Amino acid sequence: MARRMLIVGNWKMNGLLETARELADGIVAGVSARAVGCEVVLAPPATALHLLQQRLGGSAVKLAGQDLSEHECGAHTGEIGGIMLRNVGCWYVIVGHSERRADCGEDNDRVARKMAAAFRDGLQPIVCVGETLEERDQGRALEVVGAQLAVLYPRLPKRPSLVVAYEPVWAIGTGRNASPEQIQEVHGFIRQDLCARLGEDGRKIRIVYGGSVKPGNAQAIFALEDVDGGLIGGASLKSADFLAIIDAVPEKF
Ligand code: PEP
Repeated sequence: MARRMLIVGNWKMNGLLETARELADGIVAGVSARAVGCEVVLAPPATALHLLQQRLGGSAVKLAGQDLSEHECGAHTGEIGGIMLRNVGCWYVIVGHSERRADCGEDNDRVARKMAAAFRDGLQPIVCVGETLEERDQGRALEVVGAQLAVLYPRLPKRPSLVVAYEPVWAIGTGRNASPEQIQEVHGFIRQDLCARLGEDGRKIRIVYGGSVKPGNAQAIFALEDVDGGLIGGASLKSADFLAIIDAVPEKF
């Protein structure tokens, strides 16, 4: 099954307008200079979305929000709706990042509602799943990821253009790496689960990996059978590193 590899840069709460412009321009120039076979997406902070819409315009690099409200519009101070994200040029939105689960108390049900809101508003959700170190040490990694996926299925539309990001919480921003065996085990489990619930449609869903992906480890991770790309945090803040990660993407089709 041909799935186009996907590389997403998650800038988190980094980037004032001047640095966001420089970084975006560097990435666009690098992507444009290469024959990039994969899809490249940037998720800047909300304050830089409009700027990036202008800087990415006409290039192959797409835009994503880092989060969205489950509500469509109205009296929800501080929230940003999916239609607003579409309005500033977003194609994708990250949903249920572990930092939002931890910092903002987003539980599995809320993540599922946000995913449904993304579909409703015409965005492709990138839904993050992953276990904490404590859960892994208890041997519960697959159980936790299975429960995070289970709540999504009742809210999926037909033939969903969903992306699942497996991000072990203990490997995010820590420099600590999951081994290729650990990554493939969970990605293989997610693929099986998607196929068991969605049949052939489950094969079309991309499963990307996130957790301290760097130029030095990207090639080994992207070569794994059930890895369809990466969600890149820290290393997406330097254009040279992000482009080196893009260069590590194999042609899988
Ligand atoms: C992330 O923010 O989703 C992430 C994977 O961060 P990092 O690459 O810094 O671990």
